[in-house]
Amino acid sequence: MKQKLTDIAAWIQANGQQMDGIIVQGASIDSRTVKEGDLFIPFRGEQVNGHKYVKQAIEKGAVASLWMIDEPNPPEQLPLIFVDDPEFALQEIARTYRGLLDCKVIGITGSNGKTSTKDLIASVLSPYYNVRKTVGNYNNELGLPLTILSLDEDTEFAVLEMGMSNFGEISFLSKLARPHYVVITNIGEAHLQDLGSREGIAKAKFEIVDGLIPGGKLFYDGDEVLLKDFVSQTTGIDLFSFGKDDQNALSYQSVQSVENGSLFTTVGILEDEFMIPVYGSHQVKNTLAAILLADQIGLSVEDIQKALSKATLTDMRMQPLLSESGVLFINDAYNSAPTSLSAALDFMNETELRSKKWVILGDMLELGENEQKYHESFAGKLIAMNLEGVLLYGPLMESLYNELQKRDAKMKLVWSSDDFEPITDVIHKFTDEKSIVLLKGSRGLELENMLGIMMGNV
Ligand code: ATP
Ligand code: MG
Repeated sequence: MKQKLTDIAAWIQANGQQMDGIIVQGASIDSRTVKEGDLFIPFRGEQVNGHKYVKQAIEKGAVASLWMIDEPNPPEQLPLIFVDDPEFALQEIARTYRGLLDCKVIGITGSNGKTSTKDLIASVLSPYYNVRKTVGNYNNELGLPLTILSLDEDTEFAVLEMGMSNFGEISFLSKLARPHYVVITNIGEAHLQDLGSREGIAKAKFEIVDGLIPGGKLFYDGDEVLLKDFVSQTTGIDLFSFGKDDQNALSYQSVQSVENGSLFTTVGILEDEFMIPVYGSHQVKNTLAAILLADQIGLSVEDIQKALSKATLTDMRMQPLLSESGVLFINDAYNSAPTSLSAALDFMNETELRSKKWVILGDMLELGENEQKYHESFAGKLIAMNLEGVLLYGPLMESLYNELQKRDAKMKLVWSSDDFEPITDVIHKFTDEKSIVLLKGSRGLELENMLGIMMGNV
């Protein structure tokens, strides 16, 4: 952005000091990563009072800061805008700024695959347009407004991830971003604890249409029955379903994993072959959303194919990594929940890239009272997969371990509650260039740290 500080204060009807001649180019809530030209937003939490860092932020390049009206001793010489509530002010500034932009906005939500789909969509559009996307996982009530404030007047497409943990949140974010296109990647089990049921999750995700501009387009997981009711109640929105089922506007066939990614064919309103540098049918499914959207925007099939083959995805999402000794690791350690675990296991089951298959699975967190059942429920699938070994990590995996033992599973079985070593030792001893190893667990387990040890040792 490039806006006068005095104008920003006027947008939110706030008073300020030392504001003349100051131009704001973005916003930051963290004094350590503040950029030249930023407006600093201090928060007053239980542990930390951001007002203490205003001076530091300005020394590091911020040109001004918000300041809570009831916070004592505002430094007289610094440019400040006085506000009641910095979070609300940040959101309102972003809301006004969004209104001034004429870029096209794409909003993405879903239980799994938001970041992946955001990356795929941005990758498709980037060679042909000026595109900005959410950085990392900046997808909440703070991250989204910050992302909006990082857009420029010449941004043509903004690809925005929208996350939530409760009802009303996606509606709020969507109304703030006012998207032209929205995507619902899937409905899973994440946040089941807060939302009560998968129906609740579907309802919460569907809130993304609340902010869709009139005549906007919705791209959604057409394999998910829970979304069908919501979809049938919409009016004035163009609807595009994607998924495995060939009833969808776009579906896929014959996914083939090759050394550097996946090849697949699309069926439906656009039929052709595509290649993406990432593994798993679920990533192919995410790609369908990107293809449909790019097609609606008017890109040719050739342009879409070319851009997708060079797509850049964020680390730790079905990311292939080759160790020095030739073991192929699939790093999906960013997170784990039943839907995404099932998808990753399907890939492992189907791939012919390597003959000896191993999985290292960490706990799935935040699943609510049925967490044990969810873990155990994978026993049958794992047994049917013809694996060399199942290596389990974390306290919740004990029940799956017991279940596998009870069923006399024939593969090598290890369970370790909080020590990497029993697992990395097995990988070290038993894997070679014929082996493929999936690594997947919830964020809290940080399984990627295990990868460092294994890549170095094998
Ligand atoms: P978060 O809620 O943490 O922001 P996210 O929705 O952004 O997650 P990603 O980071 O893209 O999702 O992927 C998270 C995990 O889900 C990864 O393990 C990824 O491989 C898997 N995944 C991605 N897309 C799908 C999908 N459509 N269905 C099931 N699993 C998926
Ligand atoms: Mg994400």
